[in-house]
Amino acid sequence: MQDDYRGPGAAALDPADWRELREQGHRMLDDMFDFLEGIRHRPVWQPPPDEVRKLFTESLPRESGSLADAHRTFMDKILPYASGNAHPGFMGWVQGGGTPVGMLAEMLTAGLNANVGGRNQIPIDVEKQITQWMRELFGFPAQASGLFVTGTSMANLIGVLVARRKVLGAAVREQGVQADERRLTAYASTAAHGCVRQAMDVAGLGQQMLRGIPTDAAGAMNLAALRTAIAADRAAGLQPFLVIGTAGSVDIGAIDDLTAIADIAQREELFFHVDGAFGALAMLAPEIAPRLAGIERADSIAFDFHKWTQVQYDAGFVLVRDGDLHLATFATQERTYLQRAERGLASSSPWPCDLGPDLSRGFRALKTWFTFKVYGAEQLGRVIAHTCALARYLQQRIEAAPELELLAPASLNIVCFRLRGGDAGEAATDALNRELLIAIQESGVAAPSSTLVNGHLAIRAAIFNHRTTTVQIDAMLNAALRFGGALTASAAASTPRQYTA
Ligand SMILES: *Cc1c(COP(=O)(O)O)cnc(C)c1O
Repeated sequence: MQDDYRGPGAAALDPADWRELREQGHRMLDDMFDFLEGIRHRPVWQPPPDEVRKLFTESLPRESGSLADAHRTFMDKILPYASGNAHPGFMGWVQGGGTPVGMLAEMLTAGLNANVGGRNQIPIDVEKQITQWMRELFGFPAQASGLFVTGTSMANLIGVLVARRKVLGAAVREQGVQADERRLTAYASTAAHGCVRQAMDVAGLGQQMLRGIPTDAAGAMNLAALRTAIAADRAAGLQPFLVIGTAGSVDIGAIDDLTAIADIAQREELFFHVDGAFGALAMLAPEIAPRLAGIERADSIAFDFHKWTQVQYDAGFVLVRDGDLHLATFATQERTYLQRAERGLASSSPWPCDLGPDLSRGFRALKTWFTFKVYGAEQLGRVIAHTCALARYLQQRIEAAPELELLAPASLNIVCFRLRGGDAGEAATDALNRELLIAIQESGVAAPSSTLVNGHLAIRAAIFNHRTTTVQIDAMLNAALRFGGALTASAAASTPRQYTA
């Protein structure tokens, strides 16, 4: 039989000439190695020009094109205009930098193209291996279940749904929340991520039923206020069912007292979920892990491998103490087409699709497995500790600069500061700092983001990238001082401003 499957009428998408593809593929791989090797010499971010944006408004390509051309467009028009989180000068929001190992693992994942919704295949054992490692890391029992999801937004939603299933029973899945007379209330600090409120909304429980508990001076949940809020809701005939602790708040990196929350949850019979999106994996850093004490008592933990542990996007995860409850929250019986078998390809039930809303799922576990196998948990922990040390260094430099004001100390790896506005007043100082932030971003030197601290606009530097050193910290701070000086002077003279790196 002839081996040419691309005979007349064949529709296969593989190449006629593998040698040519191989050479092109090697060029693509080399380009990405070059990109990563030289990344610190590029601008962190540059505003996408209009003419580049326009390239991506063309109509559907009907005819075949060349891979080399598409690759060229990627190199020239896409790669330079990404947000820059792989760059060591990126300090905005909460974003990991990715690694060369993760990149290569992604290539293997793409080549295999495994769908890990279920079935009898080792890729699912790899995912279970990660669950086992996470049980070990967080001191969870063998019965605990785990699931890869897009990110912590989804992992928090799953936590809320598991808690909802626990309190309302199987009926909630059939009849919905309307069928139950109890009005459920949940609790999280006001510093909790916005996706926690959204999870309450999506779960049909309502954002208002998430009570925002004030924080103390360090940004952690005020526990007296939590007790008061629970008591007030009970007195009003409502049913408290869930408390969400934050391990690493997005604004300043505060950690709630998880042991105290676990005690309250136990006494009040509440489900205890932890949003540890980035902070939970600080368990890998021996000098930080003690601050997470109490996390081992959570009913569920949401976190992201794509943040502090640098796994390529996306790689969120949820760990649930009671694996049976987790299964009871999502598994369905009456599937004909997804029926399970004792042997063969449809065996090895339960499947990951029984633990969450997704059926088709990518093989996120592989890049995570590679990251842990190649770098090891200790080195990942050292990266985490190093970013915290850099934040302390940045804090010292801010404290040493009379033009700058520290707005929140580096509890972990996040520092919030601003340029002092002098006699300008609060609104003008906010405006000045908003301008300064944009000036730093547009210079390409560094990319911090902003937040509000006690109502003040803060420039927020979150050091998550494993490539960051004092070189980028100094560059960011020097840019802040230089542009800050220019802004203050031009505000005084009212002249147009221009910034260069
Ligand atoms: C990043 C983050 C989230 C959201 O996680 P995604 O992975 O972006 O969905 C939630 N909570 C905290 C504390 C975070 O840092």
